[in-house]
Amino acid sequence: MKIHDIGGEFALIGRLASQSSTTHPDLVTGIGDDAAVIGGSFPDGDYLLVTTDMLVEACHFRRDWATPAQVGIKSVACNVSDIAAMGGTPTFMFVSLVLTADTEVAWVETLYQGMAEACRRYGVVLAGGDTTLGEVTAVSITLLGRVSPENLRLRSHARPGELLCVTGPLGGSAAGLAMLAAGLDPPDYLREKHLSPGCRLDVSPAIAPVARAMIDISDGLAAEVNHICDQSGTGAEIIAADIPIHPAVRKAARLTGNDPIAFALSGGEDFELLFSITPENKRLLEEKGISVTAVGRVTEGTSNRVLTLPDGKRRTLSGGYNHFS
Ligand code: ADP
Ligand code: MG
Repeated sequence: MKIHDIGGEFALIGRLASQSSTTHPDLVTGIGDDAAVIGGSFPDGDYLLVTTDMLVEACHFRRDWATPAQVGIKSVACNVSDIAAMGGTPTFMFVSLVLTADTEVAWVETLYQGMAEACRRYGVVLAGGDTTLGEVTAVSITLLGRVSPENLRLRSHARPGELLCVTGPLGGSAAGLAMLAAGLDPPDYLREKHLSPGCRLDVSPAIAPVARAMIDISDGLAAEVNHICDQSGTGAEIIAADIPIHPAVRKAARLTGNDPIAFALSGGEDFELLFSITPENKRLLEEKGISVTAVGRVTEGTSNRVLTLPDGKRRTLSGGYNHFS
């Protein structure tokens, strides 16, 4: 049996977790959220956050599209995004490299320049790693962070009646990728979204205290809404016409024969945040000058996950990036 046959990446993780020891009194949240949450770590009661994410050549980046500095920026941003999604602050980073025998020293040094630039931006310090020879280049980062118990935002915190909001336009990374794959030259906006994205640590500290469930959008909006519903035991309704989509994404969709809404729902790697929040708290956030967009709401009934299309038709909310599926 192959991984595809059991339903892909998430089915595999579930099977592996069930055959492992995964509980401990200090493990507040283990497998299943954007980062693990570990108690008993700081005298002031803050929780330790730990996340890990890997970029693999040919799967996550191509040397003919991305400079090594861009790979470095993206590898840090995708990890910081997971800490931001917990409501936390990133701290220390460990970098594990698989390098092929023909790798130029300059390639690795420039990779690290990109990482250093992103680390300065997010206040992250390099604290260790591992370096090994292999057949394909891979960059795996483990990032630590911390969060106060009040600001901890889990995927399981959503309740019916809350709004589902996103921090920015979606589909940019997928649109940039589609243009590159079609041999087209993406505009700077899409090039950056795909090759050297940022993440939303700029707004997460303001959102965390007033939001309920939170997750970062790394696998497409549809997948992330479904993760929140799975863990909160709720349903959701997403209004396709309310999903913020940049004009450059619409143009890229036209040029490549794609649907811009599909880029947003299934594309992934946008590294915006998706969170649930009461309507009153959304107003509070906006009074503080944090602009977010409601794209739907949390509903009763966990099997009730609906996408309402611009023509009013209702579909099951599905899609999202899944390795092996
Ligand atoms: P994210 O997209 O937020 O980085 P993932 O979808 O990669 O999260 O992972 C979902 C959850 O599964 C996380 O809690 C992660 O720690 C866990 N996970 C992923 N791969 C493995 C693995 N091989 N073994 C154990 N846990 C894993
Ligand atoms: Mg995540």
